[in-house]
Amino acid sequence: MSAYRCPGCGYVYDEMKGEPREGFRAGTPWLAVPAAWCCPDCGVREKPDFELVMERTSSGA
Ligand SMILES: [Zn+2]
Repeated sequence: MSAYRCPGCGYVYDEMKGEPREGFRAGTPWLAVPAAWCCPDCGVREKPDFELVMERTSSGA
């Protein structure tokens, strides 16, 4: 599972959590999000603008 961050406002779409406000259930993969989907927080940035947030392990390394 990955997460994607809006470069405009910092909102993060986490595939594990989905975005129920937008109709995406928990576990909805990023690929299932429509390309025309806008950031629900700022409404300015669209899906292609989002940046992949690298998964971090608990090791901290
Ligand atoms: Zn945003």
